[in-house]
Amino acid sequence: MHQTNLCQSCGMPIDKHTLAGTNADGSPSSKYCAYCYQDGHFTEDDSFDEMYAKNYQRFLESDMNKFQKFFLKRMYTKKFMHGLDRWKNN
Ligand SMILES: [Zn+2]
Repeated sequence: MHQTNLCQSCGMPIDKHTLAGTNADGSPSSKYCAYCYQDGHFTEDDSFDEMYAKNYQRFLESDMNKFQKFFLKRMYTKKFMHGLDRWKNN
């Protein structure tokens, strides 16, 4: 069964190939989305709190449907974000 990867920086589901970030060699990243990761580097070097606020805002402005946003608001907490690889030790 296909499992959707979550970006390990912002938690966004990477369910389309176009949403994957790129590694230094140009190949698609299996860990990070295109917003967070380009050419082998994080696009933003913000603190945890800044990233959390930005990510949350971006989700709300995205084209997710109401149903998805309803779940997102309940699920997308700082605790959730601390569980992602990028923030585990922060
Ligand atoms: Zn991301």
